[in-house]
Amino acid sequence: MELHGDPRTKRGPSAFLKKLLADGVHHEETVYADLKPVRVTYAPGDLAGGARETLRLMRAGTPLIAQGVLMYGDRVGIPDLLELRPGASALDGATYEPVEIKTARAVKPVYRLQLAFYAHLLADTLGSWPELAHVILVDGRRDTFTLASVREHYETVLGGVVRVKEGEEPPVHISSTCGECPWEPACLTHAEETRDVSLTYGLQRRVARYLRGEGIETLGALAAQDPVALAAQAGIPPGQAGALVLQAQVLEDGQPRWRRTVTFADTPAEIFFDIEGDPEHDVLYLFGVLLRTPTGEQYTAFVAENPCDERRAFEELLTFLEAYPAAPIYHYHDYERSALRKLATRHGVDPARTPQLLERMRDLNHDLVSTAVLPVYSYSLKAVAKRLGYRWSHPEASAAQSIFWYSTWLKTGERALLDLAVEYNADDCRATRLLKDWLAQGPDAQLLPEASEPAAKWSQRARSPIPAGDL
Ligand code: SF4
Repeated sequence: MELHGDPRTKRGPSAFLKKLLADGVHHEETVYADLKPVRVTYAPGDLAGGARETLRLMRAGTPLIAQGVLMYGDRVGIPDLLELRPGASALDGATYEPVEIKTARAVKPVYRLQLAFYAHLLADTLGSWPELAHVILVDGRRDTFTLASVREHYETVLGGVVRVKEGEEPPVHISSTCGECPWEPACLTHAEETRDVSLTYGLQRRVARYLRGEGIETLGALAAQDPVALAAQAGIPPGQAGALVLQAQVLEDGQPRWRRTVTFADTPAEIFFDIEGDPEHDVLYLFGVLLRTPTGEQYTAFVAENPCDERRAFEELLTFLEAYPAAPIYHYHDYERSALRKLATRHGVDPARTPQLLERMRDLNHDLVSTAVLPVYSYSLKAVAKRLGYRWSHPEASAAQSIFWYSTWLKTGERALLDLAVEYNADDCRATRLLKDWLAQGPDAQLLPEASEPAAKWSQRARSPIPAGDL
């Protein structure tokens, strides 16, 4: 899409993404201030001039170079740092190794590919590949790896990129990662127009490749397959083949299917629970509970207004939950359960308290996926509840946006932003309640006739905010 897509269809960065970019630049500058590298300077846009200056600094034996420009043919790379090391190269007994500075807590495979790309450019410039590459993480730790360990994979990926550049058009593959991609609107529109088979939830790339090879490229074609034959031919378990075919059929006719009904105990009180967390500050900052009783419902937020406040907010949450010992605690997906365990350990909660709470927790995502198949592209709470008719108060609300609101509140003290995060959490709790009621109705339950928003069948995974440092 970067090479051939229509730039007018590319989505601009969200406020959260801009914040990550700004955090990345800030972290980079902090590391530069500490290491004091020589920064390459050149006229704006004159990358060839930047490459000449970088080479001059390398030939002069500069120990550490920031923002060097590496160029070879039509490939250009600007590593955060180039570090002088002993080694074999055209520099006579010395070479340079690439270093990236990331606002992440751990190295990701994509960082290794990025560094292999810089190493490849260094090899083109200096005559041989350096041995090592490095990542400086958000806490200042340095992760070093051998480039030989990633070279084969790098060359496969590069080969694919080169083929795309030369005109090969790979098929679209809609997956959960698309929600974080600026090309999502364009790809989703294309996939919907062509009824692309990758709209089928749970379709792995490997299986999609097999299907396309067999000419099964649309939802309609997949919906018409015999699951038993498909399982045998595609080398996947029969249950998986059946689920894919059924999901495609449901997307084709827009009608949900029920595998079984699900029952809920009749209790005098019910709690719908949702947590917000900020990985950058390592804090779970908001615990929202929607309490429903025969007299009505009430939402309460336990908020850590700063990360040091997490323990107090958590203790208040526990006291609240324990005040309604017979109320089931409904949540969506396993995040709340694992977060509760983590918090209990972190804050030294009496071990006798947690099992009773965990016992009362019920994951509605588990109930949903084992009970019904919906005409959605994703089973995130957002995608599901929107299809059931729920509308979030803030149109751009998402887990990532909530983190942005919270971290900006931490910096600026602007309470309206914290209020937005609370409002988003309240919506999540109400959406969870709506889903529970929908499931309780059983096969008579209705969907929204057709999503009024184009992408209502789809929504970025609510529990997968872009981790700081992905940029
Ligand atoms: S939206 Fe998805 S399929 Fe399209 S370019 Fe992005 S990641 Fe790839």
